[in-house]
Amino acid sequence: MAVRSFDVGIMLGVHQDPRVSVEKCQKVGVKNAQLGVPPDEWLTREKALEVAQMFREAGVTITTVFCGFEGERYDDIPTVQQTVGYIPDEFREVRVRKTLQIAEFARLMGVNRIAAHFGFIPEDPVDPRYCIAVETMQRICDYLLPKKMSFGLETGQETVETLLRFIKDVGRKNLNVNFDPANMILYGTEEPIAALRKVAPYVASVHCKDGLWPTEKGKLGTEVPLGEGQVGIDKFVATLKRIGYRGPLTIEREVPDPPQTDDMRKGKELLESLVKTKPARTKG
Ligand code: MG
Repeated sequence: MAVRSFDVGIMLGVHQDPRVSVEKCQKVGVKNAQLGVPPDEWLTREKALEVAQMFREAGVTITTVFCGFEGERYDDIPTVQQTVGYIPDEFREVRVRKTLQIAEFARLMGVNRIAAHFGFIPEDPVDPRYCIAVETMQRICDYLLPKKMSFGLETGQETVETLLRFIKDVGRKNLNVNFDPANMILYGTEEPIAALRKVAPYVASVHCKDGLWPTEKGKLGTEVPLGEGQVGIDKFVATLKRIGYRGPLTIEREVPDPPQTDDMRKGKELLESLVKTKPARTKG
């Protein structure tokens, strides 16, 4: 089933049993979702077809398969820098290989997009780690391109200036952005609505998530239910309309269930009411 613009969906947990993921979609009442990569034992051809069938039967379209890697930890900002994505040297090769395996799993499911937290892309373009990051992204994009697949960069760990430079330097048309406004706040990176306007041409999907700014250096901010944080979800949805965004609204709530699916259900109601609201006219 085709997913229409601004249809509300949910982000399903990385390394979660796909049967639990299907149940969560049913509990929240959504017809589209981003699937977190299931545990390793599901990453076979047969299992991919089985998972695709489970979601098809539930009437749920998977829009993206999200990568997540063993050893990633989100305790505080230094820990994220040392453990997340393709930046740490000791994990890079094994994670690139895993990414290609996840891409194959997605392709077998009939899903043409994967996404991930790339890790903290160095802000300084002459940092040698920056060149390695660009080459790593090119390798992944070049693997996906002949399969007509794309890669979404999750936002928040670097400034939009760095993100835009990175996309330009990678120079691959199948690279785009999964914009998560709460991450910009949780990592203390920058004001998310202004950031969204700047990165608008590359935004292929979004996470609807809310959060509070960090109160201590090096610490992450606090994720809160949609509408209770400092993103300004009404402004976020209005800005998505203004920039001509065409994708779904994927709710992400990174807490155990309960209260996860209850919060998601409330978030869905909130988003659906905001989608119906006409954007305020600006003068002149
Ligand atoms: Mg996110």
